[in-house]
Formats: sequence, C-alpha cells, structure tokens
Amino acid sequence: MPAQIIDGKRIAQQIRSGLAQKILEMLAQGKTRPGLAVVLVGDNPASKLYVSMKQKACKEVGIYSEEHRLPAEVTQDQLLALIDELNGDPKIHGILVQLPLPAHLDEEEVIMRIHPDKDVDGFNPVNVGKMCIGSRAYLPCTPAGIMKLIDTINYDPAGKKAVVIGRSNIVGKPIAQLLLQRDATVTICHSKTKDLVAECRQADILVAAVGQPEMVKGDWVKPGAVVIDVGINRRDGKTVGDVEFDSVNEVAGWITPVPGGVGPMTIAMLLTNTVVAADK
Ligand code: NAD
Repeated sequence: MPAQIIDGKRIAQQIRSGLAQKILEMLAQGKTRPGLAVVLVGDNPASKLYVSMKQKACKEVGIYSEEHRLPAEVTQDQLLALIDELNGDPKIHGILVQLPLPAHLDEEEVIMRIHPDKDVDGFNPVNVGKMCIGSRAYLPCTPAGIMKLIDTINYDPAGKKAVVIGRSNIVGKPIAQLLLQRDATVTICHSKTKDLVAECRQADILVAAVGQPEMVKGDWVKPGAVVIDVGINRRDGKTVGDVEFDSVNEVAGWITPVPGGVGPMTIAMLLTNTVVAADK
C-alpha cells in the first residue's frame, strides 16, 4: 500500500489563513502591522527566487515587507550598518538575510548582528542556544515546519528512533534537537557516516537534508516509517528531493512530496515568527 502523503502545501495554506486572521485582529486592537525586512546581497538566482516567494507570501497574509537589495561587492561594514538600521526600525519586527552571502562577507558576524528579538530565521546563537535548552525562542523555519508536519499526522516522536541525514546549522542540527526535545532517540548521519543505509533502515522517522537528488531509496526505509524529504535539487529540469519518491512511497507509512512538502512550511513558519515578533 502506498504511503500517506503529508501535504505541506495544504497545511501551510491553513497556517497562512490563520495568520491573516490574526493580523486583522491585531490591527483591530490597535497593534502595529507586522513587518519583515529581507536583505538580499548579489544576484544568486535561487536566492532571488526565495526572496520573491517570501515577499509574495507576506503580502498575501498582510505582513508589511521591504526588500533591501545590495550589490555583490557590498562591504561587511555597509551590510552591518544596514542591519543596525533595521534593528532600530519600529516598523520592522523581523529581519531575514538571505543566505548564502558572497564569500568575502562574514556570515556569522552578520547573523550575530541581527537583534535576537528580530531574528525570525532563528539563526542567531542566542536563539540557537535557547532552542537547545528548550527555552522559548524563534525556531529555525525549516525544522519548525517539519515538526508541524509531524504533529499534523498525530505522530508522537516519543520513544521512536529518528535518523537525520545532514548536519547543517539550518536543518540537520536543529531538527535533531527538536526531535530530541520530543523524546525521540536521535541519530545524526553525515558524509562521514560509516553505514548510512543500515542507520536509515532503523528509523521510525527519517529526515533527509542532504542536497543529493533522490539519494534515499525504498530499500533504505523501514516499513511504515515517516519520511521527511527536505531536499530541493534540480534534475533534468525538474525539482526533486533527496528521497526517491516512487520507491520510498511503496515502503513508508507517510512521506512528504517535493515540491509541496517541507518547502511551503518553511515560508509559513517565517511568517509565523514575524507575527509572533510583532505581537510581543
Ligand atoms: P548542506 O549542504 O549545508 O548540508 C548537507 C549535509 O548533508 C552535510 O551535513 C553533509 O555532511 C551531509 N551529506 C552530504 N553528502 C552526504 C552523503 N553522501 N551521505 C550522508 N550525508 C551527506 O545542506 P542544507 O542547507 O542542510 O540543505 C540540505 C538540502 O535541503 C538541500 O537540498 C537544500 O536545498 C534543502 N533545503 C530545503 C529547505 C526547504 O525549505 N525545503 C530549506 C533548507 C534547505
């Protein structure tokens, strides 16, 4: 029997509708309209696409958004000066710097400069630390979106074996933390893992965040597992995930499609964090 599809597009749409309603209520109570500033450096086509999708989504729910486009050759000081300005701007409740930045810029310093209260991406070490100790924080958007998907199917991670493939700061490490906080037994796999397939076969929850098109095959998956495909890869003019959908679909209990799974949830969580920041 094929797996049940976890329809991230539909779930994200429900979240967006709820946020639009929430913003109307906030405005009726005399609160300010939530505002997001998006900073884009250079002209990486994928980054430009992500920024335009985020802005469109803001508009749809009623979040004020402004885009700051800087040339690829901008200096670190110029970029930090813009962040300082946005940190002090009362119209702006969330600041997002689209990554990756050009190689001459110090990404870590830029992220650290964003005020933790406006860090709606959840990448500032203050928020990362709070997340790790289970304290209130802006959760990074993709991992937060994955947890929402798991909750939507009423799947309790407690006591389950979770395997995360990938250890990036934006997906792999934080999703492992969030699963751990929900009492899963978590293994993080990466490019140096000895027997990746054997690890994956034990997973009740398998999260693939690798960036390798269709790497995870059906015979890597435990029957009935929840498979979350974070990957966004281009292959033969199509967008594919890190999971080979057709073979895994035959074995898994639940699966997220690409596109239409994790991707829309990432944006929905960014919008959620911005509304929470404004409502504080
Ligand atoms: P990354 O390149 O920073 O990290 C990839 C990780 O995979 C690394 O930790 C590496 O050790 C591991 N890895 C690489 N090859 C491996 C192998 N053969 N076996 C085991 N592990 C291996 O990537 P990232 O930023 O975490 O993104 C991962 C994927 O998720 C990409 O396709 C990216 O486009 C996508 N992504 C999607 C969303 C979304 O909203 N859907 C958000 C962020 C990233």
